[in-house]
Amino acid sequence: MDTTLKLKINNLPQLFAALQSRGYTTVGPTLRDEAIVYDRIDSADELPIGWTDEQAPATYRLKKRDDNAYFGFNATPQSWKRYLYPPQRKLFSIKKNGKSLELLEEKDSNVKYAFIGVRSCELNAIMVQDKVFNSNEYKDDSYNSIRKNLFIAAVNCTQAGETCFCVSMKTGPKARSSFDLALTEVLTENEHYFVVEIGSENGASIMAQVDAAAVNENEIEEADKIIRQTESTMKRSMETADLPELLSENLEHPHWDEVAKRCLTCGNCTMVCPTCFCSTVEDVTDLAGQNAERFRRWDSCFTMDFSKVAGGSFRISPKSRYRQWLTHKLSSWVEQFGTSGCVGCGRCITWCPVGIDITAEVQAIRGVETQSEGSFGQQKGV
Ligand code: SF4
Ligand code: SF4
Repeated sequence: MDTTLKLKINNLPQLFAALQSRGYTTVGPTLRDEAIVYDRIDSADELPIGWTDEQAPATYRLKKRDDNAYFGFNATPQSWKRYLYPPQRKLFSIKKNGKSLELLEEKDSNVKYAFIGVRSCELNAIMVQDKVFNSNEYKDDSYNSIRKNLFIAAVNCTQAGETCFCVSMKTGPKARSSFDLALTEVLTENEHYFVVEIGSENGASIMAQVDAAAVNENEIEEADKIIRQTESTMKRSMETADLPELLSENLEHPHWDEVAKRCLTCGNCTMVCPTCFCSTVEDVTDLAGQNAERFRRWDSCFTMDFSKVAGGSFRISPKSRYRQWLTHKLSSWVEQFGTSGCVGCGRCITWCPVGIDITAEVQAIRGVETQSEGSFGQQKGV
């Protein structure tokens, strides 16, 4: 079978049908609550056909397109993280039977998700979370039970979002690996189709169930041209070469105080970020004291409780919490996981209620590169 095929838009429903016939639950972008969100969708009709989004710092709104593109929008408010690593998961419950206690552990999920429309930055974010949840030291069974069954149909970006900077982070706009299929949507005056790159045996086997044709060189070039255009029109950027050192050497830069005056410590940036992974554990009991349950919930390094230890919180100020988040993403993450914790999706810029922009904050710190050592050594990593 060819490794690149042409899938006419009218045959896209066959891809959904092929995935569902193999037991996959299909999840993809759809319109809800005046946004384009990832949700369970059973057919191509549920995609946000003819819709796009306008994004800017602290701004998101839907807009009608003047064509019928199926994937003509940018990063959604929430990422695929909520499916691989749900915001809340019951770990176990304990039931009181007379004088004895019965422990009921939650089983790992055996759901088979097919993600349709994974952008390249998000694919890279999944690979970052793979390192977190499947490292040599720590393996998260719940994450891995969902991840191992996952089918990924990536979609290359055909337009640059106002807050995206994947080109700087080398994570997009074209998906390069780790997908089963990668689609590029081509919409001309006369034709509407996808150039489909096959990335795995599973992808090939699914495409064998779909009416797809051979693709010619002109059609491949047309798809590549669209991606090159996306790349060249990306407005935001971040210089990354010396970033880990720049940040770790500037922990007392005056700009942290400037950001702290604006930051509400709401934690939105951590909730929408596709790589943030912090969680907390909460226990609840019924009023009769017969049943207790333990949940894992997403947490944020912006909450006071997150850094609370015996004696109090060790990151009391907004400055220390914002600095922790940004330096972890772009500096100490590299030490921990061998990769940046940022994939340039721009969500934290769009969804920060006061428009704090990670690219602009780094640029401001870069403005004065050399700071006296002061208490850096003590602060580092705090
Ligand atoms: S940077 Fe923005 S989104 Fe993040 S905690 Fe501060 S105010 Fe909230
Ligand atoms: S830090 Fe911001 S731009 Fe980077 S991956 Fe997270 S949400 Fe996206």
